[in-house]
Amino acid sequence: MATASGATDAHSIIALDAVVVGAGFGGMYAAYRLREMGLRFRGIEAGGDVGGVWYWNRYPGARCDLMCIDYSYSFSDEIQQEWVWPEQYAHQSDILAYANFVADKLDLRKDFDFETRVISASYDDARDLWVIKTNTGAIFEATYFILATGPLTVPKRPDYPGFEDFTGDIYSTARWPHEPVDFTGRKVGLIGTGSTGIQIVPVVAEQAGELVVFQRTPSFTLPMRNSAITPEFWDEVRRNYASIRESASLSPLGGIRAVSTRPFFSLPRAQRHSLMEDSWKQGGLAFLGTFGDLLRNEEANEEVAEFVRAKISEVVKDPDTAERLKPRGYPIFARRPCLDTGYYEAFNQPNVRLADCIDDPIECITPRGIKTQKTHYDLDAIILATGFDGLTGALMAFAVTGRDGRDLKDKWREGARSYLGIAMDGFPNLFMVCGPNGPSALANIITLNQQNVDWICSAITHMRDNGLTAMEPRPDAEEAWMDIVATLADKTLVSKANTWYVGANIQGKTKGLTMYTGGFANYRNSCADAQTNGYREFTFAPCKPDLKVG
Ligand code: NAP
Repeated sequence: MATASGATDAHSIIALDAVVVGAGFGGMYAAYRLREMGLRFRGIEAGGDVGGVWYWNRYPGARCDLMCIDYSYSFSDEIQQEWVWPEQYAHQSDILAYANFVADKLDLRKDFDFETRVISASYDDARDLWVIKTNTGAIFEATYFILATGPLTVPKRPDYPGFEDFTGDIYSTARWPHEPVDFTGRKVGLIGTGSTGIQIVPVVAEQAGELVVFQRTPSFTLPMRNSAITPEFWDEVRRNYASIRESASLSPLGGIRAVSTRPFFSLPRAQRHSLMEDSWKQGGLAFLGTFGDLLRNEEANEEVAEFVRAKISEVVKDPDTAERLKPRGYPIFARRPCLDTGYYEAFNQPNVRLADCIDDPIECITPRGIKTQKTHYDLDAIILATGFDGLTGALMAFAVTGRDGRDLKDKWREGARSYLGIAMDGFPNLFMVCGPNGPSALANIITLNQQNVDWICSAITHMRDNGLTAMEPRPDAEEAWMDIVATLADKTLVSKANTWYVGANIQGKTKGLTMYTGGFANYRNSCADAQTNGYREFTFAPCKPDLKVG
């Protein structure tokens, strides 16, 4: 039962058609679609408002590494015509403002319980519905359970001893305070040099008295070369949105970024070098739009990697620091390529220094700072930019029990598995948005969110139109999809680095690339096929062989 404020009463049992978890871009769109379909549903969100990853990750310098033309909803022409992005690569505050703009426009907040967490979800076989319990005491009983929990939701905290004894301040980039943090004159230590660390370094370096960057694995980062958007440019975009969106939906990345089919070694060395120079000057991910085989051809990849390493030496004045900043031992683009604004330049500032944790590993946190094997760093504040339990963290953060008492943790013990990254054998009517065996972080996540939610809503409509109560993929369909995912993963260099993509950053997590690497357009076709073939890869409730469709 919703109260006057819109929130759900504690200790009540609420019967619904659907529950949506998450008020990021996936959950917001799901709420909009379910409302349009006339379903009774409720959204549950741990944060205080909409925005998902952009609600939590408010650290200084946070920015999206996809251009804003791509990184926005396409379902409403009114929204895309009204909203104006100020920069090519949007700042976190602008993306959050955009999420709020959409929430206001569609009046989405009234459908969500904020500051509420799901603590368990179990499928009631007898009644064909999900029983979803929350930390507020409210219990929802719903036919459809839609998890739009995001691939980067559960922050990873390093397990060094001593954090509790530190007398300064500890900040997690993924749980950044809502008020600005002033680092002026303070001695700051930053742990982690992935996309997040690389974005925050130049901003904190401007303020801090001293900034020590604790780097374990150096990342490849390319200049973002962000710029303001002129009114003329934006008018042009608005006039052409229909074709821009069409191109995005047909592209491998779900965005309009240039892609190339040109093999790297099809050109002579001098020409390759000149194109790499152009890509560097152009900024962003121009390299991937210049050559088509950088994620498959190791030799080509290494030549680009060496080109980027040489650029680090051109920027960073101290040769020893430059050398330590150079990533080695894994292919460029196998980790998420970072886009930075002044990262390497920051190391030329007298107040910034690099602590190489391969050479001198962190041992513990002390009351006054960080102790490595060889040194003690006195610090007033520690920033953790240490990543996430990606892809599956939020989905496994509470107990999920499917048909016949199946436990999701058991099902995924050897790694996440599902059909299309959307549905799972043994878990009827549980739908994942941007789930782990789809393209997830490898595609434009807003395009993917919309496509996944549309697919789920079509499936729900199919069930409602045909008097079916529940659906789940057949075990052999799930097996066949996972074979496709694995075969594609074997062919890409993306699986060849120790990253959150392959679960290598979380102790005890099964390793392996479980994201679909065949590109968004192919993925979209597979999803469309699964629908237009009459959902023959699914069984529908009651799960008896004679009720199989197709
Ligand atoms: P990340 O890529 O997983 O990087 C985490 C960093 O923390 C790594 O350098 C890692 O080193 C280090 N680290 C972890 N545990 C450590 C420990 N115990 N001691 C020392 N160092 C430790 O996480 P992220 O930077 O938050 O990025 C995650 C993803 O978020 C990105 O890949 C991207 O998809 C997304 N993101 C996007 C943007 C954007 O749009 N621009 C911005 C930020 C994030 P090791 O590699 O050695 O473990």
